[in-house]
Amino acid sequence: MNPELPLTDFAATRAQFHLPDGVVYLDGNSLGPLPKSASARVAKMMTDEWGELLITGWNKAGWMDMPRHVGDRIGRLIGAPEGSVVMGDTLSVKVYQALAAAVEMRPDRRVILSDSGNFPSDLYMAQGLIGMLGSDYELRIVAPDKVAEAITDEVAVLMLTEVDYGTGRLHDMTTLTELAHSVGAVTVWDLAHTAGALPVDLTAAGADFAVGCTYKYLNGGPGAPAFIYVAPRHAPHIRPALAGWLGHDTPFAFEQRYRAGQGIDRMRVGTPPILQMVALEAALDIWDDIDLDDVRARSIELSERFLVGVEAGCPDLTLASPRDPAERGSQVSFRFEHGYAAMQAMIANGVIGDFRAPDIMRFGITPLYLDETDIDQAVATLTRILEKRLWDTPAFKTRAAVT
Ligand SMILES: *Cc1c(COP(=O)(O)O)cnc(C)c1O
Repeated sequence: MNPELPLTDFAATRAQFHLPDGVVYLDGNSLGPLPKSASARVAKMMTDEWGELLITGWNKAGWMDMPRHVGDRIGRLIGAPEGSVVMGDTLSVKVYQALAAAVEMRPDRRVILSDSGNFPSDLYMAQGLIGMLGSDYELRIVAPDKVAEAITDEVAVLMLTEVDYGTGRLHDMTTLTELAHSVGAVTVWDLAHTAGALPVDLTAAGADFAVGCTYKYLNGGPGAPAFIYVAPRHAPHIRPALAGWLGHDTPFAFEQRYRAGQGIDRMRVGTPPILQMVALEAALDIWDDIDLDDVRARSIELSERFLVGVEAGCPDLTLASPRDPAERGSQVSFRFEHGYAAMQAMIANGVIGDFRAPDIMRFGITPLYLDETDIDQAVATLTRILEKRLWDTPAFKTRAAVT
């Protein structure tokens, strides 16, 4: 086999997505586009399963097993063995579950360590948990480049998002996990901007817990269920903070007393969102033929093209992402004082990215459905908007609820 030749046919993957005419979509890091097969799959499930089978669908159509079955398919993309990943709820809920279980594994310690680049919901969940645990617990937030030196034997849990949602800065999961373990701390990794964006091997990294969402790079659709991974060495021993009936060992025995389910099943909570799970399955079919090393290589190629083009054409913008592609995830961000208005002008001109306060313009680079033509069009549009100050109009400065 020629190692130079990518195994993944990106023209073929692009053809599997519905992309609106005249739109260049650089926001797949926030919400992936619609896989063409998903609409028919969901429609068929509704008529053939929900419509015809009614409640018997939980058994006959295998709905009840979907959180595990789909979890295994995600596992393949993140280096997790079969039976170590389960789907459900939203990422924020999964962060809480993982963190609560991890903190309990170190009862003599009081510090949860995270960084200032983490997504607010992850930090809020830690604050909410600490509110329950007691005021002797502390959420310690340090700058991303100070994490390694802050890993001391006070730390119960190191909770990090591998790829910074704002800047795309990439943490070294293997090294930081090793460091955490060397002082006896437990790790919780958020893979929100990793899963489907770059190769990751939770097993090789020795990660303890990992969580992530499926509506970003995995294209599962708005509100698609989150995933949680628990290292098989821990799963039988952890206590679920959210002791829902479907995480019980025998849910249909309807016992009054909670007994945790076997292994990863104990991280299930309640009734799984089957319609969303079916849409996600359609999205995951596309990943069956994809090599994540190819995705990474292609993402770097396209990101470099974008970065170089924007820096050449838009001197008012400052790169917010690491310049070295090895230190970035699959997005490129720029700072611009009028970033919100400039992004609205971009969207009005057919190039969709997004904006994160206070001044970050974010562009997701997703090789499954983007190519050089898209990148060049995005660069040309941004250059024109900045050159002609097309953003400088009241219509583009009024903030919508979702930015
Ligand atoms: C997108 C994202 C979330 C969102 O959480 P939801 O509960 O799915 O809304 C949380 N954490 C990180 C790091 C994210 O990137």
